[in-house]
Amino acid sequence: GLPGSVFFQAVEHAPIAISITDLSANIIYSNQTFSRETEYSKEDVLGKNESILSNHNTPRIVYESLWGRLTQQKPWEGVLVNRRRDGKRYLAELMVAPVLDENNKTINYLGMHRDVTELH
Ligand code: FAD
Repeated sequence: GLPGSVFFQAVEHAPIAISITDLSANIIYSNQTFSRETEYSKEDVLGKNESILSNHNTPRIVYESLWGRLTQQKPWEGVLVNRRRDGKRYLAELMVAPVLDENNKTINYLGMHRDVTELH
């Protein structure tokens, strides 16, 4: 198979913001596009909850549908209002998915988002 470093480089340099979290949505990895888009460095977000990106005016039902899907081990896709480190709001088209181990147990979550402010 491919060496792990190839997978790492592909994710690290992918032209979409990627983060990996624990089961409480605390960030354990973020790629370079994530830092460019959110203005949070890797060090800024490591161990922080994904909710630091929330602008706190996305309807609660949106988060409930996101978590409802993840807890059923299914992916979810939708648009959220996010906020950059400098306070600027942007619309994020987010896809989240569970990461399963070989026994089909959810071990992490994967998030991928892009700024779609200009498309709306
Ligand atoms: P919360 O306290 O998170 O509560 C909102 C709802 O989610 C409640 O119904 C609560 O019961 C439920 N919930 C929260 N955590 C869990 C859990 N661990 N298991 C089951 N149900 C749970 N949010 C953004 O605003 N922007 C993002 O870009 C973003 N990216 C995410 C990426 C990933 C990979 C994941 C897993 C989550 C992401 N979230 C994102 C969601 C984020 O974790 C928060 O749930 C959200 O921001 C709302 O935060 P809150 O503190 O207002 O409410």
